[in-house]
Amino acid sequence: MTGLKEYMVMIPFMAHGHLIPFLDLAKKIRQRTGFAITLVSTPLNVKYLENTISKDSSQESQINLQSLPFNSVEHGLPPNTENTGALSLDRIIKLFQAAATLEGPFRRLIAETIEKEGHPPLCIVSDIFVGWATDVAKDFETVNVTFTTGGAYGTAAYVSIWQNLPHRSSGKDEFSLPGFPDSCRFHITHLHRYLQAADGTDEWSKFFQPQISKSLGSLGWLCNTVEEIEPFGLDVLRKYIKLPVWCIGPLLPPQMLEQDSSSESKSISQPSGREAGLPTEQCLEWLDSHPECSVLYISFGSQNTISPSQMMALAMGLEHSGKPFIWAIRPPFGFDPKGEFRAEWLPESFEERMAQTNQGLLVHKWAPQLEILRHKSTAAFLSHCGWNSIMESLSQGVPMIGWPLAAEQGYNSKLIMEDMGVGVELTRGLQSTVEKEHVERVINTVMEKGGKGEEMKRKAVEIRGLIRAAVREDEGHKGSSLQAIDDFISVVLSKRKVLTAS
Ligand code: UDP
Repeated sequence: MTGLKEYMVMIPFMAHGHLIPFLDLAKKIRQRTGFAITLVSTPLNVKYLENTISKDSSQESQINLQSLPFNSVEHGLPPNTENTGALSLDRIIKLFQAAATLEGPFRRLIAETIEKEGHPPLCIVSDIFVGWATDVAKDFETVNVTFTTGGAYGTAAYVSIWQNLPHRSSGKDEFSLPGFPDSCRFHITHLHRYLQAADGTDEWSKFFQPQISKSLGSLGWLCNTVEEIEPFGLDVLRKYIKLPVWCIGPLLPPQMLEQDSSSESKSISQPSGREAGLPTEQCLEWLDSHPECSVLYISFGSQNTISPSQMMALAMGLEHSGKPFIWAIRPPFGFDPKGEFRAEWLPESFEERMAQTNQGLLVHKWAPQLEILRHKSTAAFLSHCGWNSIMESLSQGVPMIGWPLAAEQGYNSKLIMEDMGVGVELTRGLQSTVEKEHVERVINTVMEKGGKGEEMKRKAVEIRGLIRAAVREDEGHKGSSLQAIDDFISVVLSKRKVLTAS
């Protein structure tokens, strides 16, 4: 130790899938070190985090929350818009650009904190999209560590594609990626459409390229994954970014990591991204009414949705498959994501029929995903392959059907299918034509006993074991993710000694 009363400052990007892992990481660091942790965001996001924290009153999880002044209207966003969850994908770039303007207020906050504490924070932990925090850390004589809320494979691909735009230089639909072996081929459809069109001069490139490059100036990267589950991705990431990578995942509530995390054990106080849909008890009762390992859970995450025609095909394929399902559903692409749901987006009387036959439950707005995934009736997860969803599914040994839509989801889908062998991809993106027969075929492949589905289940259960071991600590065993947090802390502490001595 350095003899100073240590504290850290953390700044996530303003999206549900970033804020919650940052909060969980803050709690984990606090539990392990006792350091004071300040988590910084805009006022509405801070309010959201406050509500989440108030559900967890333990002393170790006390995190200091600080707001930076922010007025969304000044950035061309609707009033009170501070989070991707309230925005259609086309307008999200404005929120990214607005995030870059937080640098000034963040500098003022750090200066005030230093005055109060008498010394700089031990470390500033920043999001990969908040690359400017490396400059702030340098100017205030502390260090910066980047926290990527994605997995290693997906992050490596994301960083390399933004930095190299290989689809532009090769001019081909299929290409290899700097940092990845030649045999690992990527396709233009793995890339989100704004990235497909990016050429280095557009507004997306102008935001992502400098933020990523600056993040490469960090002391190291923290990654929300587990050393043992992504050996290939980690090897690629470490060689590509040439920085230490500490795998500190999964960042999940302890109930998700208990030996028996079935529905009988304690309930989870889960953050909700928006107004809750159905109460958790009702979802669990519905799951209780189905046999073990029989239900497909469907969700496209906190901010994505599919097109109207895709929604129709998915509904028809689901109904025809005869498999029970829970679908976290919201208006299709092109409509207000927070607006009322219209029956015409689905086959006639679909919701009523599914309720009458007990085949399907539609959860509008927000579903209790963690509770659903850990229920023993859940057999598989049709997901947009957001990294949090993947970790949540694998922590329960649940195989997946991939339908990536944005960000690094295409690479995550490739990972679970080709590298981990725990999933099948149904389709990619919003533009693809989806046939109901194909939906049914893929569902059957993953859910029917015997054949490929059983092998995927076996691998998912194996990964569940690795994930749980990584966060276990008992006599003679310290999981790799706990060791990684300790290693990260000792590196920043030794850096502090060097800085204070010079
Ligand atoms: N989530 C949830 N209920 C929903 C939709 C999402 O609880 O109806 C949670 C989910 O458990 C996960 C997060 O929101 O923790 C989504 O994060 P992910 O990285 O999978 O995708 P993103 O929303 O960032 O695209």
